[in-house]
Amino acid sequence: MKLGFGFMRIPRLEEGSVNMELLNELVDCFMQNGGTYFDTAYSYGKDGDSETSLRDAVVKRYPRSAYTVATKVNAGKAAGEEQAKEQFYTSLSRLETGWIDYYLLHGVQIANVKRYEDWHLFEFLKEKKEEGLIRNIGFSFHSSPEMLDDLLRRHPETDFVQLQINYADWNDPNINSKKCYETAEKYGVKIMVMEPVKGGGLADPGPRVTKILKDADSEASCASWALRFAASLDRVHTVLSGMNTMEQMKDNLSVMKDFRPLSEAEYRVIEKAADALREENSIACTGCRYCTPGCPMNISIPEVFASMNEYLRYHDRLKFRRNYGIAVRKGSDASQCIQCGQCENACPQHLSIIQYLRDTRNTLDELFPEEK
Ligand code: SF4
Ligand code: SF4
Repeated sequence: MKLGFGFMRIPRLEEGSVNMELLNELVDCFMQNGGTYFDTAYSYGKDGDSETSLRDAVVKRYPRSAYTVATKVNAGKAAGEEQAKEQFYTSLSRLETGWIDYYLLHGVQIANVKRYEDWHLFEFLKEKKEEGLIRNIGFSFHSSPEMLDDLLRRHPETDFVQLQINYADWNDPNINSKKCYETAEKYGVKIMVMEPVKGGGLADPGPRVTKILKDADSEASCASWALRFAASLDRVHTVLSGMNTMEQMKDNLSVMKDFRPLSEAEYRVIEKAADALREENSIACTGCRYCTPGCPMNISIPEVFASMNEYLRYHDRLKFRRNYGIAVRKGSDASQCIQCGQCENACPQHLSIIQYLRDTRNTLDELFPEEK
């Protein structure tokens, strides 16, 4: 089965700790239905609790042969080469797996690739593979197909890449899913897919797109179309999905267990849906939150964008004002942005965050001029 269980957004209780009871149930359901692949990262969760939860829910409850684990080193969370390498040992001790099946350089893009290379992390991963502590070397990637080509040519030790692939981004000139996929295919590496449902956005793509998908198949969920699009690609080894409710888990399993690739007619439906999404001009934020920790003004960027996107889809101005108000309650208003640019450097989607914040605030002001 091509479905992988992503541990970036695991279920949490209200006070913030991991909901282990639900996580165990999700893991059991996933494994009983043939799932084996789990994806986490050194930097996911709070104080490493994504990796330790994976240990408690999977490693301590299943034999080592029943699953494979992927985790990642994050150069952005290290002060130097030694600290970055130390992350590998920390992950290994948090996970208690003995070895890492798939080990990745996390979120490689123009802004950080020099660090990964200057700190000799490709060489380090090669060494660990020779020692038997890593089984497959790879990297997750958020940049141009040309850069991907260059990296794969210079690092033939790469066994796999993790790419953002979904039908909304397939031909998007910012993300270039299609060209990145073709580049990886050219080098014969395995492809793991991240963001197949675009941070959940394709599970609820708004009334127009939902109608297109429901007219084609009234039984299928919108998320199932997105998963099938990614999993229908031949070179794709695993499609990651962050499942934090049993409903999501069951829906994903129903699609992926006895997998049926998209037919020609279904591809045409997807193209229509992608066109409708493009016309919507929504902000392509996946809610990953990589932009927020360093914001000196503490602006809740993804929540501000979610409020704007919902307005673009449903045109409900009162709801927009309410959601925007909730978004900025814990931090600053979008108008407080000092344009320092740290968020844009951190954003894997290469979004013009400063401009979008301005647009969101201006839209609200235009809708409620009396409250300016
Ligand atoms: S540019 Fe604005 S939103 Fe981005 S980090 Fe700086 S202050 Fe925050
Ligand atoms: S703006 Fe970019 S970095 Fe921030 S949550 Fe959205 S996609 Fe992630």
